[in-house]
Amino acid sequence: MPELPEVQTIVGDLKAAGVEGTVITGARVFWTRTIAEPSASAFCRRIKDKRISVIRRRGKFIVFDFENGDHLLMHLRMSGRLHLISQASPRKKHEHVILNFKGGKQLRFHDTRKFGRIYLTSNADKILGRLGPEPLAIEFTCKMLAGRLNLRRRLLKPLLLDQTFIAGLGNIYVDEALWEAKIHPCRIAASLTGTEIRALHRAIPRVLKRGLKNLGTSLGTGKANFYSIAKHQGRNHDKLKVFRRTDRPCPRCQMKIQRIIVCQRSTHICPACQKNET
Ligand SMILES: [Zn+2]
Repeated sequence: MPELPEVQTIVGDLKAAGVEGTVITGARVFWTRTIAEPSASAFCRRIKDKRISVIRRRGKFIVFDFENGDHLLMHLRMSGRLHLISQASPRKKHEHVILNFKGGKQLRFHDTRKFGRIYLTSNADKILGRLGPEPLAIEFTCKMLAGRLNLRRRLLKPLLLDQTFIAGLGNIYVDEALWEAKIHPCRIAASLTGTEIRALHRAIPRVLKRGLKNLGTSLGTGKANFYSIAKHQGRNHDKLKVFRRTDRPCPRCQMKIQRIIVCQRSTHICPACQKNET
């Protein structure tokens, strides 16, 4: 699933391709459930002739702000991808929603597993307002993180994956951040010491910025893996320290990386660097 660095890379590519300022001349929906709100037919009517003013990211959502005050929110979930191509190009099987742009290009929402969702709304806050703080924002201070952790009796890993606790993290970057901070994913959030909270507060932006610099993480070369609009594969896979590196040496201490299951999620740790002392 694309996480903050992958979604931000897509947003950057859409901006670089000049999509801001473009007018949508029409839309077609081939799988109605992809449109979470409003109905597919209302979506097609309402989006016609709207001009995109700004494209941005909030959590794992791609947000298109329109000049008339409407917002188009896209969540790629497991397998969603965006293709920006000529309208002459034949539609592929899993391209479920097609937006026509003035000038002849199309933005196509491709989603083999069909979990991705698109919202068109005048009230983006109704959906985005539930999200926790942005970990790369200046407001994400150590004090704020400490205050939020101290209230929770939950295990750290599922808490960090919870988009209402902190927005944009997923399985890859949570495992990487916990390794950086030398904290076991099964620790109870409220049990972290001040030193551990400071380490976690440094680690989260560090792993996200590394992912961004490398244009996201592409796992393998299969079609389900992350590709940006510009068709480049993210290079961050080579920079990962623990994620899907089971039995390979920890880059810090050479102990073998272990794969464990935490709340049904596959999790990668160094058993020497990340001890579960509680
Ligand atoms: Zn280690």
